[in-house]
Amino acid sequence: IITLAIETSCDETSCAVLKNGREVLSNIISSQIEIHRKFGGVVPEVASRKHIENINIIIEKALKEANVDFKDIDIVGVTRGPGLVGALLVGISSAKAIAYALDKPLIGVNHIKGHICANYIEHKTLEPPFTCLVVSGGHTYLVQANSYTDYELIGRTRDDAAGEAFDKVARSLGLPYPGGPVIDKLSKVGNPKAIDFPRPCLEENSYDFSFSGLKTAVLNYLNQMKQKGEEIVVEDVAASFQQAVIEVLVEKTIRLAKERNSKTIALAGGVAANKGLRNLLEIRGSKEGIEIKYPSTTLCTDNAAMIGSCAYFNYISGQSSDLGLTVEPNLELDQK
Ligand code: ATP
Ligand code: MG
Ligand code: FE
Repeated sequence: IITLAIETSCDETSCAVLKNGREVLSNIISSQIEIHRKFGGVVPEVASRKHIENINIIIEKALKEANVDFKDIDIVGVTRGPGLVGALLVGISSAKAIAYALDKPLIGVNHIKGHICANYIEHKTLEPPFTCLVVSGGHTYLVQANSYTDYELIGRTRDDAAGEAFDKVARSLGLPYPGGPVIDKLSKVGNPKAIDFPRPCLEENSYDFSFSGLKTAVLNYLNQMKQKGEEIVVEDVAASFQQAVIEVLVEKTIRLAKERNSKTIALAGGVAANKGLRNLLEIRGSKEGIEIKYPSTTLCTDNAAMIGSCAYFNYISGQSSDLGLTVEPNLELDQK
C-alpha cells in the first residue's frame, strides 16, 4: 500500500510517501522556523499563509523524490488535529482534493499518535505493547501502546507541556526560538547540580506532570540573581533546569513500564530529541532490563512520514474518514 501523507499542524509544511507504513520513500519537510524566530514563537496567521504558498510544491517534491505518480497512491493520510486551526485547514483541504480526484480513501490522523508512530519507521521490528512518553511542543503524555491503533492515555501535564517549558525558560534566558535544542546543547557544558530547582512530582502515585512551577522557579532565580547583581551562568541554569525536567519524566515513565511489565519504552515528540533525556532513560532502562527506543531527530519533530505511518495502521484496522473530515484543533489522544 502506497500512502501519501500531509502534515501542516504547526509551522512545518510536510509531505511524505510511504510503503506499508514503515518504509519511507520520501519525507519532504519545509520548516518556517526562520520566519517565526523574529517573533519569538509561531504566529498562526503567518503559518497558514506560508502553508498555502508551499503545500503544492512540497507535494510535488515528495512524489518526485519517491519516484511515484498520483496514480500510484492507494491512500491519503492527513493530520486532522491537534494544532492550529488555519494551518490544519490547508493540509486537510489539499488531502481532500487529492483523495477526491483519485477516488482513494482519506485517512484523518491524530498528530500525537503520528509522533508515536515515528518509532515504527525508525525501528522496523517494534510492535505494541510498549510504554511511550510523548513530549512535544504542546503535549506531554504518558501512554501505554496496546496495539497499533490503541494508545491508552495514562498521564498528562496539568499545565505547561515539556517542550513549552523548554521554550519559555530559553526565552527568559534570552536564547532564540525554539529553545529546546539550545538548552540541550548548553546543558552539555553546564553543571546540572549548580542550582537545586524543584522536581514537580505531584501526588505519590500520579502519572500526571506539572512544569509551570519549575518554570516559575527558574524565573525567580534569574530575578534574584539580577537583583543581587550576581553573574548568571546560562549553561548552569540550562543544565539544572533540564536535569529537573528529565528526572521527573524518566522516573514516571520507568514506573509505568514496570507496572505494565513493558519490555520496551519508546520516546516520541520534539523533546525526544533531547540528549539528556535519551541518556538518562537509557541508564535507568538498562538497570531495569527495559529497552529504550526513540526516532532519529528528523522523525522526532513534525514531519509527514510519521502521519503516513499512522494513516496506514488506521487504514488496515478499518478506520477511514470521508470528505466530511473536519479540523480538530484540540483533539485529545483518547478521542477517535
Ligand atoms: P505538538 O506536537 O504538541 O502539537 P509541536 O508539533 O509544535 O507540538 P514538536 O514538533 O513535536 O512540537 O516539537 C517541538 C518542540 O520540541 C519544541 O518545544 C522544541 O523546543 C522541542 N525540542 C526540539 N528539540 C529539542 C531538544 N533537543 N531538547 C529539548 N527540546 C527540544
Ligand atoms: Mg514545529
Ligand atoms: Fe508535533
